[in-house]
Amino acid sequence: MEKKQFQAESKRLLEMMVNSIYSHKEIFLRELISNASDAIDKIYYKALTDDTLTFNKDDYYIKVDADKENRTLKITDTGIGMTKEELENNLGIIAKSGSLAFKNENEMKDGQDIIGQFGVGFYSAFMAADTVTVFTKALGSDEAYKWESQGTDGYTIEPHEKADVGTEVILNIKENNEDENYDEFLEEHHLKTIIKKYSDFIRYPIKMDVTES
Ligand code: ADP
Ligand code: MG
Repeated sequence: MEKKQFQAESKRLLEMMVNSIYSHKEIFLRELISNASDAIDKIYYKALTDDTLTFNKDDYYIKVDADKENRTLKITDTGIGMTKEELENNLGIIAKSGSLAFKNENEMKDGQDIIGQFGVGFYSAFMAADTVTVFTKALGSDEAYKWESQGTDGYTIEPHEKADVGTEVILNIKENNEDENYDEFLEEHHLKTIIKKYSDFIRYPIKMDVTES
């Protein structure tokens, strides 16, 4: 298993996310849910032109699971998944929407809520997590992979068993410190509020097991 480096531009965005003092860190969940929804859209559109594929609406959903004991937040989707090449190209390189938001550094300094306005994408996960793990299996592929990163020092990719097509993004939520509360990202009530606030328009069901009353 080899460790790979992020592209220079991605590294800069990552550093900003890791050291973020942005007060609306919660938008990372909007970004991950929107990626999950995009991944399901891709199957939906493929099914329109591919006779061998049928899109059965009930099979497609997004699921959010919080595990307080292990400090993990998992976002699962039944979307199109990623091949090894796609993992390298899509998660190793800054996405276009993200780079757009950070292109103009002056704009950065002036525009307080630039993160909130633009899609900052996948890397926003590092505002809330110290480790991000992705398990994914692409549609039509027999192979599945694990991608993992602790942020700026790069990422690893290795083969991994996964039964179903789709993607699981697992965030290891940061520990609280005197300035920041991260525990709330493991609280079901708070997660529900964030989902309602930012992801209400998502066209696929967002499921969450309810264990708290
Ligand atoms: P954007 O969504 O604007 O392209 P992101 O940084 O959010 O930028 O995501 C980068 C890319 O990673 C996506 O375009 C997509 O190709 C891939 N990706 C991220 N999350 C998923 C997912 N859950 N399923 C499949 N592909 C994904
Ligand atoms: Mg995105």
